[in-house]
Amino acid sequence: MSAVDRAQELAQNLAAVRRRVADAESAAGRADGSVQLVVVTKTFPAQDVRLLAGCGATDVGESREPEAGQKARACADLGLRWHQVGQVQTKKAAAVAAWADVVHSVDRERLVAALERGHRRALDEGERPHGHVLDVLVQVDLADDDERDPGRGGAAPRDVDELAAAVAAAEGLRLAGVMAVAPAGVDPRGPFERLAQVAAAVRAAHPGATAVSAGMSGDLEAAVAAGATHVRVGRAVLGARPAIV
Ligand SMILES: *Cc1c(COP(=O)(O)O)cnc(C)c1O
Repeated sequence: MSAVDRAQELAQNLAAVRRRVADAESAAGRADGSVQLVVVTKTFPAQDVRLLAGCGATDVGESREPEAGQKARACADLGLRWHQVGQVQTKKAAAVAAWADVVHSVDRERLVAALERGHRRALDEGERPHGHVLDVLVQVDLADDDERDPGRGGAAPRDVDELAAAVAAAEGLRLAGVMAVAPAGVDPRGPFERLAQVAAAVRAAHPGATAVSAGMSGDLEAAVAAGATHVRVGRAVLGARPAIV
């Protein structure tokens, strides 16, 4: 596909997803623009990020090192807000803290500590501007206890309070809210309602933690209906990814 065709395809897809988000906002009686679209560009080249920025995308999501950091650095001139949406291995936390503005997928205390250390080092080494703060969301596993899949990540709902407190206490990190991926093969409405309850409990203890990151290409309407403030959309904007990701 030529660069011009790709630019057109991305512009059309982005416009269509924006319409879906706007329709979902209005169907839920929510204000226009109350949901932030994060375009998930994992596996796609930096050139696509550049084209999306040209269409007015402001927030992009990535998932894997070293691809994510390389792309963020290649696109540093675009002034985008960079989100880490996928699982983070503890040993990769420092690498993520050097480029991400928001980490959606914090599900254990060891990772909080590793992000705090990595972010401090990035500040010390001048990789992040003075005063930069890393926004952190606690990822919640919405599956039933007997169906929990460690591969998908997320803390059990009963562990969220403690984890949220650990993020709130960490220097250089800001507890921004909660995130979830709906379990596969079930109606996402139930899980997203459960996430809304977890989010309300977190907000009661930490009033600034207002973000609810939920909803992807296949289920963003259900997420917006349940109060999502951020949707993370990949395929519906960029097209199919290789099956391994
Ligand atoms: C890849 C990914 C997305 C985007 O999923 P699509 O189905 O492509 O919209 C959203 N959230 C997370 C955590 C992801 O890993």
